[in-house]
Amino acid sequence: MPTHLSYEFNTPVYKGSTSFETGLFIDGKFVDGSTGSTIDIINPATEQIITSVSEGTTADVDAAVAAAQRAYDTVWGLNASGLARSNLLWKLAQAMEAHADELSAIEVLDNGKTFGWASSTDVALSINVVKYYAGWADKLTGQTLEQTDSKLLAYTRHEPIGVVGQIIPWNFPLLMFVWKIAPALATGNTIVLKPSEFTPLTALRMCTLINESGFPPGVVNVVTGYGHTVGVAISSHMAIQKVAFTGSTLVGRKIMEAAARSNLKAVTLELGGKSPNIIFDDADLEQAVKWATHGLFWNHGQACCAGSRIFVQASVYDSFLERFTEKAKQIKVGDPFDKGVDQGPQISQNQFDRVMGYIESGKNDGAKIHLGGGRVGNEGYYIEPTIFVDAKPEMRIVKEEIFGPVGVVIRFEDEEDVIRQANDTMYGLAAAVFSKDINRAIETAHKLKTGTVWVNCYNNFHPGIPFGGFKQSGIGREMGEYALHHYTNVKAVHINLGNVL
Ligand code: NDP
Repeated sequence: MPTHLSYEFNTPVYKGSTSFETGLFIDGKFVDGSTGSTIDIINPATEQIITSVSEGTTADVDAAVAAAQRAYDTVWGLNASGLARSNLLWKLAQAMEAHADELSAIEVLDNGKTFGWASSTDVALSINVVKYYAGWADKLTGQTLEQTDSKLLAYTRHEPIGVVGQIIPWNFPLLMFVWKIAPALATGNTIVLKPSEFTPLTALRMCTLINESGFPPGVVNVVTGYGHTVGVAISSHMAIQKVAFTGSTLVGRKIMEAAARSNLKAVTLELGGKSPNIIFDDADLEQAVKWATHGLFWNHGQACCAGSRIFVQASVYDSFLERFTEKAKQIKVGDPFDKGVDQGPQISQNQFDRVMGYIESGKNDGAKIHLGGGRVGNEGYYIEPTIFVDAKPEMRIVKEEIFGPVGVVIRFEDEEDVIRQANDTMYGLAAAVFSKDINRAIETAHKLKTGTVWVNCYNNFHPGIPFGGFKQSGIGREMGEYALHHYTNVKAVHINLGNVL
């Protein structure tokens, strides 16, 4: 009997209940893993066990791939029209809308993000992403290509790849699930997906919605389990033709190695960042402070695009720092199901220790803590919003992704100085520029080596706008038309209309 979660939410911001199976989702059914073992799922706000999920193995990945291949060969892939795929995705979006609050509550319970953010960002954007790709599913076209010889016709078809593997992290569990499955399904692929072992619950709840929406069994398969077993099995599987991963640069490298060593499957990676947020002296300082606070502390700093290096022009440095500190002090840290709370706990003991380790390293290296730096309470993985000043470029807190509510505020002199400092990183995911001079802002945006630049804002996302990294922040793009290209193979067909040999 697969494991099961029944939970009553009786909280200040949400009252309701949820009930769903937490086994492996293979061929449209929830099943136990081949060994019968389970993984405990911890509530990061209380450190208590919420439930357990099945622990998948290599054998379970094999079963999921076989189901995905069967579905691809019979009821999906080239056997399902774009319109049929579009209709199913649209039904899924409607099912998500009908269960939006429940999905938000599960995400809060499992991940620790606040209910307000879970519903206004994670769930709302997820629904829009599914709708966006429902719109694409019946509008995929190739090209007809001109040749000098009029007796030759050539055209291209964008065919699905087949069975694709997807591995997602714990910081935006539902959103990453949807960013991955929606373009893959729109283009006709079948899926074997591994959620993070820390946050598999919304993915499993989505599996029941996928069934209820009418997707044929085997089109989406979810194998919960550890990275070193299930993740390795997916990335090295000989029958999986493409793998998409979001997570650390360290693991991204392992995925690429596994792909190279097995069947040279296509790889897309959405990895870490150390994003610069640049505040020029002519910026609207009040707005810059608000956006910088959101840019750094959103999702407790557990965002790949977190604006964790804040560069401020020398003449406004002191006044920015004063206002930014005041704003950060107003962030209410606490139970993510409480009203008025802005920041919940970090995801796990591991991440808590890791972030506190970075805070220690900053202090030991000689940077100054301007705000925070400590734990909040003694239950749950809560960390104070933390601001460092007087940091040097070679310090770990300036170079490495901390993935917590910790940022450094750094002074710069002029455009040339800040472009050099901002680009002095192995990462290239996102950046922001604040200035009232649009020429200056655009010129700076074009010189930054990052996949996204926000001008006078931060963390804007839209299903139609691509997101992904330069340099070691990744390969490929999520969302938009761009993501579709990663899920199709282009076939060129040459027709001879009368040439003879
Ligand atoms: P990881 O990159 O280790 O985990 C992401 C996903 O990859 C999880 O599902 C994980 O499974 C899986 N995984 C781990 N090892 C392998 C492997 N060898 N082959 C295939 N899959 C694997 O992130 P962590 O949770 O360890 O976080 C560490 C750091 O990574 C963070 O502090 C942050 O800096 C960065 N990170 C970046 C994210 C982003 O959005 N760019 C998201 C999450 C983390 P399992 O859960 O079992 O480990």
